[in-house]
Amino acid sequence: MNTIVIIGGDAAGMSAASKIKREMKESDVIVYERGEHISFSACGMPYWIGGTIESDEDLLVLTPEVARNIRGIDVRMRHEVTAINRAEKTVDVRNLDTGEIARQAYDKLVIATGASAVRPPIPGMYRPGVFTLRALSDSQRIYAYMAATEPQTAVVIGGGYIGVEMAEALIDRGLEVHIVEMLPQIMPNFDADMVDEVTEHLREKGVQLHLNVGSDGVSEVDGRLAVGLGEQEAIVANLVLVSVGVRPNSQLAAEAGLALGSSRAIRVDDHMRTDDPDIYAAGDCVEHHHIVLGEDVWIPLAPSANKGGRIAGENISGSDTSFPGILGTAVVKVFDYTMSVTGLTERGAIESGKFGANGEFVGSAAISAYDKAHYWPGAEKIKAKLVIDKRDGHILGAQLVGKAGVNKRIDIIATAITAGLTVDQLGLLDLSYAPPYSPVYDPVQVAANVVMKQVG
Ligand code: FAD
Repeated sequence: MNTIVIIGGDAAGMSAASKIKREMKESDVIVYERGEHISFSACGMPYWIGGTIESDEDLLVLTPEVARNIRGIDVRMRHEVTAINRAEKTVDVRNLDTGEIARQAYDKLVIATGASAVRPPIPGMYRPGVFTLRALSDSQRIYAYMAATEPQTAVVIGGGYIGVEMAEALIDRGLEVHIVEMLPQIMPNFDADMVDEVTEHLREKGVQLHLNVGSDGVSEVDGRLAVGLGEQEAIVANLVLVSVGVRPNSQLAAEAGLALGSSRAIRVDDHMRTDDPDIYAAGDCVEHHHIVLGEDVWIPLAPSANKGGRIAGENISGSDTSFPGILGTAVVKVFDYTMSVTGLTERGAIESGKFGANGEFVGSAAISAYDKAHYWPGAEKIKAKLVIDKRDGHILGAQLVGKAGVNKRIDIIATAITAGLTVDQLGLLDLSYAPPYSPVYDPVQVAANVVMKQVG
């Protein structure tokens, strides 16, 4: 009988486990999870904290009981894998409740250890009232702290997507909210010219933005938290959320001698196999092949974690399934706006050095067009930016920002890039039209027609 051991019980790990157990009913599938939950929607946590989602239980996709009793997966909670012994094909596991260490043999191993929130090396990052948000238990701690202390002011350090989503959640809960961002713009995975409207919108909604300034630490003043801003006056708050990014949990793999990529995430092939044929890895702990760049990159997002886990499971079960790669397609709600991105930004394309030493082959155009027929009640403008390779018109990436119709339009462009379409082909795609849904020339095609002029 096959024994499959999986390290980590969230999106990637449980996708792999479920697939293997479905395909190989006789196998023993053991999932070690060091935390308190398996399979939860991290992406929904800001909306629970903000009050849109009523209960944290709604965020649970699968409980250990259901995984065990219905799916037949041997889930072992609060068990941390501390070492992978490749020569003898075992893992060392610590029971976090008893401290006991045991050794478990595997035929195949899946590393699905995800990523951890980074706390920058500045003072005060572990003070009470200073939080990061990664696991469901983090959101429960924030929720309980808010219920117990009724904070009035919050500082969010980091203006990426989690910081911005949490700023909205905290405003919804009636707090005064500040975002401190070291860079000159929020949402650094968008080009600077695509964030202006949203930046203004955040201010309109009451978020106080402190751009171009890094925090140098959090101290305690009269029972409150003072977030230092170097030369500038500190912000005094009752709650601080640190959302400056994540790092891959790849230490176990590295200690076992498995290859890591330049991002320090685990290197896998298109079958989600590491350089050990008996060890697979998936999710936020691995690099994925970037379809436009043609190289491996680390962009930790839920869709690739779920798919990568499933594909690892399929291949362990005897299939021959390849993961085609990623574009980093993402969508974020910012109050009344939606921002979406796929592929490379203009800045990313230039910096990659793949489109001319100084990015001279990178073309781009940003347009503004209605999401529905202009006369349709409630029609809203979308700002759409397309980035192309001017030499042959291939689409390198896109960003869309607006109040409506932004989320699924980005998926048209992700599909076009994956299919290798050029911008003139995108401009002529036979997309649907009726006044309540889109203009006769969809904003995506308006952008395509404008940027097409730069080709050649
Ligand atoms: P993880 O979710 O990190 O799970 C890894 C698991 O492994 C953890 O449970 C951990 O406890 C366990 N583990 C680690 N090491 C060990 C060990 N040694 N032994 C045992 N167990 C171990 N993505 C999107 O695409 N869209 C979104 O809107 C979005 N919103 C998000 C909002 C928030 C607030 C957060 C935090 C993330 C969001 N993400 C979003 C990212 C998404 O949640 C992740 O991409 C996804 O959870 C990755 O799944 P994973 O299984 O690879 O890793």
